[in-house]
Amino acid sequence: MDFDLTAEQLDVVSMCREFAESEIAPNAERWDAQSEFPLETIKKLGELGLLGLPFPEKYGGSGADTLTYALAVMEIGRCDASVGITMAAHVSLGAMPFYLFGSEEQKERFLVPLARGEKLWAFGLTEPQAGSDAGATKTRAELRDDRWTINGTKCFITNAGTPISGGVTITAVTGEGDGRRPEISNLIVPQATAGYVQAKPYKKMGWRASDTRELTFENAAVPEDHLLGPRGRGLKQFLDILDGGRISVGALSVGLAQACFDAAARYAKERHQFGQPISKFQAIKFSLVDMATELELARSAVLKAAWLKDNGRDFATAAAMAKLYSGELSRRCANAAVQIHGGYGFMDEYAVSRYWRDCKINEIGEGTNEIQRMVIARQLGL
Ligand SMILES: Cc1cc2nc3c(=O)[nH]c(=O)nc-3n(C[C@H](O)[C@H](O)[C@H](O)COP(=O)(O)OP(=O)(O)OC[C@H]3O[C@@H](n4cnc5c(N)ncnc54)[C@H](O)[C@@H]3O)c2cc1C
Repeated sequence: MDFDLTAEQLDVVSMCREFAESEIAPNAERWDAQSEFPLETIKKLGELGLLGLPFPEKYGGSGADTLTYALAVMEIGRCDASVGITMAAHVSLGAMPFYLFGSEEQKERFLVPLARGEKLWAFGLTEPQAGSDAGATKTRAELRDDRWTINGTKCFITNAGTPISGGVTITAVTGEGDGRRPEISNLIVPQATAGYVQAKPYKKMGWRASDTRELTFENAAVPEDHLLGPRGRGLKQFLDILDGGRISVGALSVGLAQACFDAAARYAKERHQFGQPISKFQAIKFSLVDMATELELARSAVLKAAWLKDNGRDFATAAAMAKLYSGELSRRCANAAVQIHGGYGFMDEYAVSRYWRDCKINEIGEGTNEIQRMVIARQLGL
């Protein structure tokens, strides 16, 4: 086993770290407080090639591997989880379906501007009545006169309404199916489509600087060639996309957990009680040691899942384990970091208070903890 990163991977890590520490970290508190989408910073991520990291250069990407992409998400997420999820949702959920399932013409038309970072793209699976049970989708698309006419609602959609959002790829019922489940297909819906209605952004507990909205389709008609992949394969395609997405949410969780550790370790050395830094108390030391130990394990789990994917191996179980463990770890680390800050950790001017709000979604988005356990149990033959 070789645990060394390549020179290219190290270059991307240091570029991301420098950018995140100089351009993201100083603004994260303000963006969160004002629920402000950091448009200019997202555009710069695009200029640095970070919005197209794992796609080939011929499609406008940077030609990096999944491992490099996971390292980049860790670095960006360490400074701001909202910017991290904006990048991760765009790459893993928005652009990846075009790369994996698009025709050559669709890749040229849709993937290239996304990989270059000129536009963001969203992934519309969740509906008000279809969350974990994603196959319960009610959005319908009917093929009439060479056009798909779409009606339905998608909720909690990331990157759905930013000033540079280009559109969304959705699941929709397109036919009767095999009797047990309806036929579900993926459709590409550009934002300019008549009948594409975006709601106001949700008011959220965390990830406040990211864009999350409900989308409604009212007789929204797109050309027949906006079908992505074969008709009837939509749910399977999106579930495959989520396997890869779990690597990036795992990476985001590791980034946040690292931020919690860094802030808590720094504060513990500065804060004095009973005549000495609180870091000298064994209880505080052990809490920091537990964070550091689990962080090491979580980082390894995420990078291993990425390595499996890059090497064409089956990575779904490893990605579910990495996402589950890292998501829960980010919550434990955020809780410990606030505890180490005492009452100051409860105050908004300390970043750990934001980390505490940002961590919870890591246990819900792209498959809840319970769904990850169900995926892993199935693999274990349980
Ligand atoms: C900020 C944010 C951004 C998001 N971005 C996107 C996006 O870009 N695109 C998109 O499509 N979706 C997105 N989502 C949706 C997200 O993926 C769903 O919220 C998630 O999958 C859970 O679905 P749900 O909220 O409907 O919860 P439910 O499925 O209703 O689950 C409620 C509870 O029941 C549990 N549960 C459900 N089924 C079972 C079971 N069989 N066994 C045991 N427990 C079960 C769940 O684990 C959970 O604890 C986003 C959500 C949020 C909050």
